[in-house]
Amino acid sequence: MRPLPVLPQLPDGRLEEGFAESKPAYNEAEAVTEANRCLYCVDAPCVKSCPTGIDIPEFIRKIATGNVKGAARTILAENILGYSCARVCPVEVLCAGGCVYNAWGRQPIAIGRLQRFATETTLAQGGMRALYASKIKPKTGKRVALVGAGPASLAAAALLAMEGHECVIFERKQYAGGLNTLGIAPYKLKANDAMKEIAWIFELGAIELRTGTSVVSGDISIEGTVTAKSLLRDFDAVFLGLGLGPDSALGAKNEAGPGVYGAVDLIEKIKSDPAMTLKGVTHALVIGGGNTAIDIAHELALLNVGDVAMVYRRGREDMSAYAHEIEYGMKHGVRVLTERVLTEVVRDASGNVTHGKLARAQGGKPVPGTEETVPCQLIAMAIGQSRATEVATAFDGVALDSKGRVVVDPTTHRTGNAKVWSGGDCVNGGKEVVNAAQEAKLAVRDMLRALAG
Ligand SMILES: Cc1cc2nc3c(=O)[nH]c(=O)nc-3n(C[C@H](O)[C@H](O)[C@H](O)COP(=O)(O)OP(=O)(O)OC[C@H]3O[C@@H](n4cnc5c(N)ncnc54)[C@H](O)[C@@H]3O)c2cc1C
Ligand code: SF4
Repeated sequence: MRPLPVLPQLPDGRLEEGFAESKPAYNEAEAVTEANRCLYCVDAPCVKSCPTGIDIPEFIRKIATGNVKGAARTILAENILGYSCARVCPVEVLCAGGCVYNAWGRQPIAIGRLQRFATETTLAQGGMRALYASKIKPKTGKRVALVGAGPASLAAAALLAMEGHECVIFERKQYAGGLNTLGIAPYKLKANDAMKEIAWIFELGAIELRTGTSVVSGDISIEGTVTAKSLLRDFDAVFLGLGLGPDSALGAKNEAGPGVYGAVDLIEKIKSDPAMTLKGVTHALVIGGGNTAIDIAHELALLNVGDVAMVYRRGREDMSAYAHEIEYGMKHGVRVLTERVLTEVVRDASGNVTHGKLARAQGGKPVPGTEETVPCQLIAMAIGQSRATEVATAFDGVALDSKGRVVVDPTTHRTGNAKVWSGGDCVNGGKEVVNAAQEAKLAVRDMLRALAG
């Protein structure tokens, strides 16, 4: 087996290392037993619920008959990120949510765990190169620049590299993988496991990664940057996989300062920063009602913060977090406080957070005179992320919509510039890894036609 390409490794001593897996890998006997429960439905609803359209009954049948490599091929043919998606996809609301067993009140087929069994078993035995060796095309001499090293760009680079195109990925951060490496809850996928997939992708062909390099607008590139203009000049095509921007702030009194984190930033620290500690944190407030809010609340609870309260300004029915994730978090001690708004962060003389002031809320707005002061040493703001798409407009012809999303043709993912495609969170406003993979697939299909022409 060829050695894997060297990617920057995450250091030891990070909080995420202590997490156990929520859905551990199946062994062969477990996988075959589960696969044999599948009814191999015609017009299978599970397939219709998969954004990438994987032929689920087909890959499950292959597992049942001992053809694990074939199963992995079936998965990766539609979703090149099938390894990480097996672990991070919200299958409860996608494929498994569509399984016919649900209608009979029975446990749906564990599609995600079967997908993990097939991809992990196969890729561990030689990576993607072994699987696709005969399919990788000779070099074309065409070069594609990919902005951002998240799932969207990585999926696009994998598919382009197999077609013989040279790819250069520009990533502003130190690590590749975007939120797949730095954002996914550690009980689903740890950063080093996400890195394995990236290494397998890099084996597929000429893919170069330039971390610590931001793509910027303007005419001048200083160290650590490269201009949009130079990418348009030096490459045959460009793919924008910019993702979303930093966490939004709430605007509560005394919010800025130590002890108050943006949720995505805090998750990144838990996953990648050995200096991050929760020493002295016994009570935490998480502000927000979405999936990022429940993720960080759940993570803090699993990291033994004694009291973790998720604070949401409207009712439980209005929370956008998946019901299964809320239930799972609550099982591990997360409290959900609805119809409350954080109005003030209380700090001691040294600036440390000691309490939060919570007001009752009506219609999402605080009701004056209803405030109570609750103890906490850490507050995580999970009320959304800003956009990181401004740079996209530095590529002539690329436009943003009123919500700051990159505008593309939905069938081809080509932007208003004939040389520029885009996909993932910067286009869809923030969905799942599987959507980024699918959008990259559509973009590459069109890009291949353009590069061939
Ligand atoms: C906390 C959290 C938990 C999540 N959990 C799940 C989950 O369990 N399952 C799931 O399917 N999805 C989950 N998601 C969503 C999923 O992570 C995203 O949908 C997916 O990562 C989108 O991929 P992307 O490539 O579009 O963007 P990203 O993953 O955000 O990657 C974009 C990359 O582009 C880089 N970049 C941006 N601008 C520039 C620039 N100008 N120059 C160079 N580089 C740049 C960024 O640094 C980043 O690395 C989660 C999201 C969050 C925030
Ligand atoms: S819907 Fe369920 S039983 Fe039918 S093919 Fe899909 S996984 Fe198998």
